[in-house]
Amino acid sequence: MKKYIFFSGGVCSSLGKGLAATSLGNLLESRGLHVQMIKIDPYLNVDAGTMSPYQHGEVYVTDDGFETDLDLGNYARFTNAPITRANSITTGQIYQEVIKKEREGRYLGRTVQIIPHITDEIKNRIYAVGRLPDTDVTIIEIGGTVGDIESIPYLETARQMTFDLGKEQVLFIHLTLIPEVGGGEFKTKPTQHSVMKLREIGIQPDILICRSSEMLTADMVYKIALFTNVERGSVISGYDVKNTIYELPLVFRDQDLDGIALKKLGIEAPNPDLRVWERMVDICRNAEETVTIGIVGKYIHLPDTYKSIIESLQHGGIANNAKVELQRIDSEELEDLDEREQKNRFSGIDGILIPGGFGSRGTRGMVQAARYARVAKVPCFGICLGMQILVIEYARNVLGWTDADSTEFKPDTAHPVISLLEEQMHVTNLGGTMRLGKSESHLVPETRIHQAYKSVKIFERHRHRYEFSNHYRAEFTQAGLIISGTTPEDALVESVEWQDHPWGVGVQFHPEFTSSPISPNPLFASFIGAALAYRRNREEMQ
Ligand code: GLN
Repeated sequence: MKKYIFFSGGVCSSLGKGLAATSLGNLLESRGLHVQMIKIDPYLNVDAGTMSPYQHGEVYVTDDGFETDLDLGNYARFTNAPITRANSITTGQIYQEVIKKEREGRYLGRTVQIIPHITDEIKNRIYAVGRLPDTDVTIIEIGGTVGDIESIPYLETARQMTFDLGKEQVLFIHLTLIPEVGGGEFKTKPTQHSVMKLREIGIQPDILICRSSEMLTADMVYKIALFTNVERGSVISGYDVKNTIYELPLVFRDQDLDGIALKKLGIEAPNPDLRVWERMVDICRNAEETVTIGIVGKYIHLPDTYKSIIESLQHGGIANNAKVELQRIDSEELEDLDEREQKNRFSGIDGILIPGGFGSRGTRGMVQAARYARVAKVPCFGICLGMQILVIEYARNVLGWTDADSTEFKPDTAHPVISLLEEQMHVTNLGGTMRLGKSESHLVPETRIHQAYKSVKIFERHRHRYEFSNHYRAEFTQAGLIISGTTPEDALVESVEWQDHPWGVGVQFHPEFTSSPISPNPLFASFIGAALAYRRNREEMQ
């Protein structure tokens, strides 16, 4: 069985198409099927690595070191589908491949065109995943909105695949918005128009998922079905969930989205077994304790920049049966505060997280946050740039090297405690100099990080260029900073910890990419555990 489900979006972007697609993936897996997820980004960039967080939110990194759109992170949190570079397609990649073949003379002198050459290349990429021996169903999310010029070749590919393989092999799901206008009236017209747009190019959707604040009424379903030619039973309500996005698979299960999809694809599968998932959602809904985490970063005003970290904090909460509330703290804002004002800013916060990032802006404020957490003994978690900040802060305030810095921020500092490796120093082109993807780290027994992972050997993903400078290792260790993890053979520092502190850990890798609500990353679980202990202590002292 090799089946394909396309997901497109209508009316406007950011409706949660990725979440709907991955929720269906989750439901199919709960019926014992093997699912693959593909995200198509119709932009001309080859990957998301060079894209600004202001435009595109977080860059999600795969095990095999590919920099992708953040939707792949949603796939990884909701499903067990393997996520590698093969699961991320961009128009840039497709054109690059077609032009390469053209230059190699592989089209034998024919005119190279969007149909069939670009569409064939898209099919090749989809089949490369969909025909893998273990795959039953491949879910392909076409980014953007129907009507965009960029997505036309992908919709055309979906149409051709239905034609090539037959109706029972390919399903088309369209997700739209039912907006509410003045007076609380819900409008179906934009949905009708967006389906018309699809039909113009030869696609009749099999299932509609309609986003709205409330469950659709029977009247609305009737009207949508009549105008769009989609069966009434296949018009699904994607209403706003109250507590957590992890409720979504349950919302769709209750309307039998998976059952309808399987019936149309002619697949027989057992009923969904969602017991573990339901238990997890139950904790999200009903956990009694709450813990407040402050994230100190420079992209704090953008909702998606720290997506995986924010989700992983929630997972840490689930592991501890607690709710996690976030306070977003702009690191630049901290820079103008004196010590007392800083203390006030952090009052009520049970744990501080300093996330990854690039460039010097805001780093002074992050160093101040690290200092506050170290001295006031507030649990503190530094991730990638965050670990580098913990090291810089220690150098400045404990070792007394007031000019200590990363050469990323201050190339001529006398104390470059974070710097490029010797072999990277002479490279002028930044491309290809990052440590990317999954690699091994060795942990020192009895450290916090070792207590969290309960293993001396771990695998996590990386995305960074600068390293803890080995030159200063001895001085740091003598001054009390614990080097708690390294790459194999002790080559590079992977994690540091504060001594005599409830929980101060910095890691050079990105644990947020391997966390899911069902299997929270151990570091996030341990950090939230420490923050809860801090909170209880704080309350007892009051
Ligand atoms: N800018 C730092 C580096 O390149 C940290 C990168 C990150 O946080 N992802 O090493």
